[in-house]
Amino acid sequence: MAQPTYVIVGASLAGAKAAEALRGHGFDGRVVLLGDEAESPYERPPLSKGYLMGNQEREKVFVHPAHWYADHEVELRLGTLVTGIDRDRKTVTTAGGERLGYDKLLLATGASPRRLSVPGADLDGVLYLRDLEDCERIREAFQRSSRVVLVGGGWIGLEVAAAASEAGVATTVVEAAQQPLGRVLGPQIAPVFADLHREHGVDLRLGAQAVEITGEKGKASGVRLADGSLIGADVVVVGIGADPNTDLAVDAGLRVADGVFVDAALATSEPDICAVGDVASALHPLLGKHIRVEHWANALHQPDVAAQTMLGKQARYDRIPYFFTDQYDLGMEYAGHTGPGEYDEVVVRGDLAGREFIAFWLADGRVLAGMNVNVWDVNDTIQQLIRSGHPVDRGALADPNLPLDQLTTE
Ligand SMILES: Cc1cc2nc3c(=O)[nH]c(=O)nc-3n(C[C@H](O)[C@H](O)[C@H](O)COP(=O)(O)OP(=O)(O)OC[C@H]3O[C@@H](n4cnc5c(N)ncnc54)[C@H](O)[C@@H]3O)c2cc1C
Repeated sequence: MAQPTYVIVGASLAGAKAAEALRGHGFDGRVVLLGDEAESPYERPPLSKGYLMGNQEREKVFVHPAHWYADHEVELRLGTLVTGIDRDRKTVTTAGGERLGYDKLLLATGASPRRLSVPGADLDGVLYLRDLEDCERIREAFQRSSRVVLVGGGWIGLEVAAAASEAGVATTVVEAAQQPLGRVLGPQIAPVFADLHREHGVDLRLGAQAVEITGEKGKASGVRLADGSLIGADVVVVGIGADPNTDLAVDAGLRVADGVFVDAALATSEPDICAVGDVASALHPLLGKHIRVEHWANALHQPDVAAQTMLGKQARYDRIPYFFTDQYDLGMEYAGHTGPGEYDEVVVRGDLAGREFIAFWLADGRVLAGMNVNVWDVNDTIQQLIRSGHPVDRGALADPNLPLDQLTTE
């Protein structure tokens, strides 16, 4: 009997981890990993941190060494754009015109940066950061620029601002909201990051809307704001969020709503097709709703569950969402899932002004999310607090003298 073929579309962290998990669970059929990029699967967090700043080597960003794929009989095909899925015939088509049959299909197509749509946005020197090439272009631009403007003060914008400012480039961040990260962290905690950047000389323009990229001889020369002011720039980096790459799924008639809809086993509305990573909007059993998570840890861990599902095993993904960032000398980890209107209180344990603390977001006395800043080895405990769903004593939560793990056993 012919060996079954499992096809993975998207050769990045989630795709590479899925191939690894299939082999790890004993699948000995064909594994074909298709990706449109030229590079072997790599990790993206260093692209806005160590590798961008020039203190991490290129070889260190790859998920597996180049020989790993052949060693594990994974057919890695780079530079291969998948253009269509035929669910009836169970085939995928590539831009090169090849038709490839699958028994099971995994979508790991990730997300793409949202584009700025203002006059001048297509000038030379307006850059985005998603892939290795983007990172190398920005790194090179920092070396020959004296002024950079970041449009967007989200995680990536702020990390790039930190890298630019550490590279000695005069750095301005233009953010439409009143605080960078205001939506995710709220008014009490978000200023920690604003202050951090100001202390490092970054010019934060808050509540500011970029309405035009001005240019000279086809090259970006500045960013005009809605109030008419102009900020000069040699390079403009846009970080205004990312959208999931759902075109294939939409065209194939799969259920899509801000991501490819999958159940807790990570199967789509078509049982032979699963989805993972940034592109997947997965039912989270603990939260009781679908969430799409653009986090490294999600792309790292979901593939193991999807691989089991593809192999007919019972599995579900219920990890607490987890995220990290490094900016200057601040390192932080965030676990949980909450947003404006979903929590009613923020409790801080430790030294907020000194940037060495844990913040907890609570609703009805229960911890929904927690963030440790320059405090280490506590994130697992924070996740246990979230997972338990038990009400916690606010006083105890705020008291750094009471060990956090004692609160989880109550
Ligand atoms: C600069 C940067 C810094 C980050 N830093 C952090 C961090 O500090 N902490 C954190 O938790 N997360 C971070 N993230 C997020 C994290 O990197 C992502 O969550 C993770 O990369 C998602 O992996 P993925 O495999 O699902 O998708 P992606 O990494 O987006 O990969 C999808 C791949 O599929 C390919 N593809 C798409 N469509 C097709 C097609 N039709 N045919 C073939 N190939 C296709 C894409 O080209 C891409 O290679 C960062 C992201 C970026 C961009």
